[in-house]
Amino acid sequence: MMGGQVPILVLKEGTERETGRVAQKRNIEVAKAIADAVRTTLGPKGMDKMLVDSLGDIVITNDGATILKEIDVAHPAAKMMVEVAKSQDTEVGDGTTSAVVLSGELLKMAEELLDQNVHPTVITNGYRLAAEKALEILPELGIKVDNDEILKEIAMTAMTGKNVGDSKEYLADIAVKAVKAVAEEINGKTVVDVDNIKVEKKQGGGIRDTELIDGIILDKEKVHPRMPKRVEKAKIALINTGFEVKKTEISAKIQINRPEDIQAFLDQEAEEIRKMVEKVKEVGANVVFCQKAIDDLAQHYMAKYGIYAVRRVKKSDMEKLSKATGAKIITNLDDLSEDDLGYAEVVEERKIGEDHMTFVMGCKNPKSVSILIRGGTEHVVDEVDRALHDALKVVGVALEDGVAVPGGGATEIELAMKLREYAPSVGGREQLAIEKFADALEIIPRTLAENAGLDAIDIMMKLKAEHQKGNRYAGVDVFEGTIADMVERKVIEPLRVKKQAIESATEVATMILRIDDVIAAKGTDKDKGKGPGGDMGGMGGPGGMGGMPGMM
Ligand code: ADP
Ligand code: MG
Repeated sequence: MMGGQVPILVLKEGTERETGRVAQKRNIEVAKAIADAVRTTLGPKGMDKMLVDSLGDIVITNDGATILKEIDVAHPAAKMMVEVAKSQDTEVGDGTTSAVVLSGELLKMAEELLDQNVHPTVITNGYRLAAEKALEILPELGIKVDNDEILKEIAMTAMTGKNVGDSKEYLADIAVKAVKAVAEEINGKTVVDVDNIKVEKKQGGGIRDTELIDGIILDKEKVHPRMPKRVEKAKIALINTGFEVKKTEISAKIQINRPEDIQAFLDQEAEEIRKMVEKVKEVGANVVFCQKAIDDLAQHYMAKYGIYAVRRVKKSDMEKLSKATGAKIITNLDDLSEDDLGYAEVVEERKIGEDHMTFVMGCKNPKSVSILIRGGTEHVVDEVDRALHDALKVVGVALEDGVAVPGGGATEIELAMKLREYAPSVGGREQLAIEKFADALEIIPRTLAENAGLDAIDIMMKLKAEHQKGNRYAGVDVFEGTIADMVERKVIEPLRVKKQAIESATEVATMILRIDDVIAAKGTDKDKGKGPGGDMGGMGGPGGMGGMPGMM
């Protein structure tokens, strides 16, 4: 490029740019705002948020991941914070609020160091060292997870704060049973894929009507009233083409001259459909799950042969059925053979609330279970769904790793104490950053206390004193308003949840700290009407960093 005196214009007109301390300050402010937005929801005494979307639909929850998913943030730093919550949620299913609150606090502490002219690189180095050390110390707090009781406690800790009334223990029990049912031993390691647990929701009844089903449930009824309601020793065909005469792609003209020919033509169509059903019957299937349509005539024949059939089954459910019953999904009916059929002890239609659902129970593969969630209103059902989502994930993670740590801020306070002991060994200005990292960890117990309406200063003093005395499990008992042994109080969380929260919070905080230049393209057309920068104010539109001009 040419040098000289004339400034070179590299950015498109209208591009917004912030550099240096201004950019840094702004990013930190935004990240803190996000953390503040969810802070009040942390812990069993956290408040709920009522979220209203643009269509007026309401969600009431204190689930960090859900809140951040629903709010529409525009600033790139805000988006990064939301990403933390999302990854925490997908990785471990819990600890989303904690991760976001910790990120915010790490940035707040960094700001104090920036004000003392500590360079961002020094801060990020110190933070990295602190995080590494914290992960190294974490297993020292480990509690062995070796029985169902402790798994249930982990499930219940994850569900505290969820609006599921006094049904936590009931749901925890279901979560533990479901996870254990799908757990597999692979190369001597326990592996849990909670996606193998099919969750269906049906409004009606009470939370305690929620049940664990040994098999697969489909929110579908049989296609014809004269089909059997229940089939025992079910031989199941999974078909992903329709039971109907295919309309040809090329429009053909059929010339019919005599009235008898019409009948002949229709007869021929009927014959084709009859043959399709004959084929199914011939190979010995008495249950058909079809991904597409089932023609009236086909329904009639199936009913006549005592076949139970369901149409328009979702592709994902076809796959689950295949896994559960051992049936092969067939595209061409001519290829169907007896070997392709799956097996289940019972397939039956049951009336749940106002609707009929299909239950496939006692499957060939015993590692297929479903949970049918019930509850008085849609909001209740959805909240139970969120609570179970967290519970299933944490129980799965805890079963895989076999190790948990105390909750209620006990782990964070212990880590903070140990990091302060470690900091001087590093020395220099990094030491300051490590100490700030330790301070930031304290946000968890402090917030738990604050949200419970306790005197946070007093609680923090007592908590630190206990840990100094060597009571590693001392945490905030938010119900009694005192300090208590969290293991005795049965407040425990999988180690992996804490590990993930520390890792992702550190990652996003250091990432944000390293940015000293934000260049955002002018809001694109699709952003119009949202106002510049949406509700977070500031740079760009939702196009944000994505729409950067190609100058870097
Ligand atoms: P997150 O999205 O981070 O999981 P939660 O609102 O679920 O947020 O709160 C989790 C925090 O609440 C954890 O620090 C956990 O240890 C703590 N906690 C859960 N149950 C209790 C309890 N009964 N007493 C004290 N703290 C608890
Ligand atoms: Mg939680």
